[in-house]
Amino acid sequence: MGRVTDRVCIVTGAAQGIGRAIGEALLDEGAKVCFADINGNKVADVADANRADYGDDVTSAQVDVTDRDQVRAMIAHTVETHGRLDVTFNNAGVNKPMNFMDVTEDNWNFIMGVNGLGCMIGMQESARQMIQQGQGGKIINTASIASRQGFDNVAPYCASKWAVVSLTQSGARDLAKHDITVTGFAPGVVATEMWKQVDRDLMDIGAAERPGQAMEEFSAEILRGRVARPEDITGTTTFLASKDSDYMTGQIVMIDGGMTLV
Ligand code: NAD
Repeated sequence: MGRVTDRVCIVTGAAQGIGRAIGEALLDEGAKVCFADINGNKVADVADANRADYGDDVTSAQVDVTDRDQVRAMIAHTVETHGRLDVTFNNAGVNKPMNFMDVTEDNWNFIMGVNGLGCMIGMQESARQMIQQGQGGKIINTASIASRQGFDNVAPYCASKWAVVSLTQSGARDLAKHDITVTGFAPGVVATEMWKQVDRDLMDIGAAERPGQAMEEFSAEILRGRVARPEDITGTTTFLASKDSDYMTGQIVMIDGGMTLV
């Protein structure tokens, strides 16, 4: 018996990186998973790759998490396929470094839109479905070390990830009466496409001189001595989706190898 056997889960931002790993770990522990992403073709390929092992437990959806109608359609598709919704991971996220003094409205709105508003809409629409089912549920949001400290070249990203923390707390308070828990987890530096792109962007804005330098410098203080792989995150995310975490709500779990001791 897996830790999340037969739980119906949605993971957004699941075409690659942390989201894909979260979804695959859930499948491995018996869940039924909808992999959702704005990159429809790529996320469909992820679902296909997992169908060989997990058959009908896997589905996928193209979704822009900033678009409420698309989020509703993703949830409707999941419920149609698997009968209900038990757990949503609001994991889709973006970053686009800019020097603090150069941050534009477009940069702010893009990042706050996906990371902040996308999380809010995902929470609301998932909760609506869970309330209708009447059996509670779990909402799990992806925060960051940038939810705990403001860094100079990624100010809107930090603001958006602090927003994820407060949304987790607000949602936990509001949804407790429906037996819905809201938690989050905060990775540090995880080797994914996002960090490869951040590394390139930091070079473009003059904050680093050679590939890999930004990641090395940023990671120098990690007590565990190395950056994370997506697989370092999934023991905790599966725990947060399982009944073992039922008495937790409104909390963010740091999974950063000891970068920020808060
Ligand atoms: P990634 O860039 O590898 O994957 C992010 C996924 O989100 C992509 O597949 C992308 O297509 C999708 N996405 C982007 N905008 C979307 C939208 N509007 N609607 C739906 N999907 C969208 O990134 P990752 O490193 O796997 O990051 C996953 C989450 O973890 C993000 O919220 C990120 O902020 C957070 N995080 C990452 C790190 C890290 O070091 N990689 C650290 C802390 C937090």
